[in-house]
Amino acid sequence: MDNVTEKLVQCFGYRKFKSELQERAVRAIARGVHDVYVSMPTGSGKSLCFQLPAMLQDNKVAIVFSPLLALIKDQIDHLTKLKIPAESINSKMTTKDRERVLNDLHSMKPNTRFLYVTPEQAATGTFKALTEHLVKYKKVSYMVVDEAHCVSEWGHDFRPDYLKLGDLREKFKSIPWVALTATASAEVTKDIMTNLKLLQPVAQYKTPSFRRNLYYDVVYQNCIQDEIGDLVDFLKKHLKDDDNVKPKDKSAAIIYCRTREQTEDISSMLTKRGFKSLAYHGGLKTSERISVQEQWSNGECPCVCATVSFGMGVDKATVRVVVHWGLPQNVAAYYQESGRAGRDGKPAFCRIYYCRSERNSVDFLLKSEMGRSKTPEQKQRCKNAYKSFEIMVKYCEEVKCRHKVFADYFGEEAPRCVSRCDACADERGVRRALEQHLRRAMSATLGSHGLVSHADSSDLYGEGRLGQMREAESYYGERSGDDSDSEGSRRRVAEETKSLILQEFANRKKNLEKDRNKNTDAESAKYSKCQAADSTEKKVNGLTVA
Ligand code: ADP
Repeated sequence: MDNVTEKLVQCFGYRKFKSELQERAVRAIARGVHDVYVSMPTGSGKSLCFQLPAMLQDNKVAIVFSPLLALIKDQIDHLTKLKIPAESINSKMTTKDRERVLNDLHSMKPNTRFLYVTPEQAATGTFKALTEHLVKYKKVSYMVVDEAHCVSEWGHDFRPDYLKLGDLREKFKSIPWVALTATASAEVTKDIMTNLKLLQPVAQYKTPSFRRNLYYDVVYQNCIQDEIGDLVDFLKKHLKDDDNVKPKDKSAAIIYCRTREQTEDISSMLTKRGFKSLAYHGGLKTSERISVQEQWSNGECPCVCATVSFGMGVDKATVRVVVHWGLPQNVAAYYQESGRAGRDGKPAFCRIYYCRSERNSVDFLLKSEMGRSKTPEQKQRCKNAYKSFEIMVKYCEEVKCRHKVFADYFGEEAPRCVSRCDACADERGVRRALEQHLRRAMSATLGSHGLVSHADSSDLYGEGRLGQMREAESYYGERSGDDSDSEGSRRRVAEETKSLILQEFANRKKNLEKDRNKNTDAESAKYSKCQAADSTEKKVNGLTVA
């Protein structure tokens, strides 16, 4: 047993590391050669990654920056239970307590092994003087930035004071720094490196996003006759009646909905169709919420239709299905929510039932919010939210490996998915479904504005499609003098129609051009269609929206 494993047992009471990655991160931090960045999902044991190495350095204190007093309290309580001296300096403590802590830290042999502070506290003169003293007498083992995503404006809880920590990193070059966060996007990771001014090369320990046991797909609501029927079939197929297992280990499902009403509606429709479900949302009384959660956790009810508030703190390993009814909020949220499936490592299924009209509403809301924002910070936040939304839309409207979308988002290499998502398992089928979805969405958009639509016609390149654009053009042209309230919405529809058609052309052209390279007779016939598409596209591009 080496000294690292010895401390794991002695100080923390664990017989082994929680994962190989945890062990590698601990050993890298213990070497103390590089700054270290750790990105692992919540619950994977990040704290131990810096706490254990700090315990290897006698008579030294690790300074930990943490965003919230509540989090600090949890960590101190946990360490205190393990009989490891941990303290905090904060604005809420009594003068007497503060003096006690400061006296200890100024002594030649401090008892304190961990000092927790908020970034705001770190900016005070008291803290600066204390750190200088500790560094001067070589009493600091590590500087640790917990919840490091707070340093990024791309993160969901950006804290401007976190930015100032970068100056401390520059000032105290001799101390190794450790930054920890839950799974972060490529942008957030980059911000953490830059804004905290971590010394390069930074040793990085990241849990890869790819989970082979999860199968991802997208179903277009407007391409199926009976959406709820389809959902019931999907649930029945993947949630087996496992009578031989303990109730709490029975298969379960979560259906995430966007609104409270939707959770109630879908849950009652599922129950009526023979699949017992319960609704869960913030509008329920606390006792009702607890009861739903319990019935689901202990296997009495296999399915919960819930808003995204459901799942935090829920640790059920046998979730076989996670469905999103409509567009998830963004890629990070989708990864996290769908990731509640298959924690036991067995096959599980994550599906989005995508609805384009809902996507349009979200688009509209986000743009309106952007229009209303006043300060540069608000504007930036809106822009970021919009960009995240666009990535999520692309996830649903592109024929691309779903796991690769996650990998790109988290800045990782493309995983070897092979057939763990619909796009890899059946690319042609997904392409066909997407085209049908777009045609129907366009048809519905035009129909709702009184336009005759040819969108469902298979003649994508001929006069039918161009005629459709002309109808749109004359419709909007006639009303170009119309300054009523609905003018903006008409313009949006016209713009959208145009962009949908162009997008369809682009996709078709790409496929045809791919086929052309195969150079068969049949394909060259298609190529002439491609040229026709080209000229139609130019005409469409030339149309102006009134
Ligand atoms: P995170 O910060 O990644 O969310 P925590 O550090 O809070 O995770 O740890 C999550 C849980 O895992 C805690 O209950 C912790 O005690 C436990 N844990 C950490 N390391 C180990 C280990 N090596 N063996 C068993 N449990 C561990």
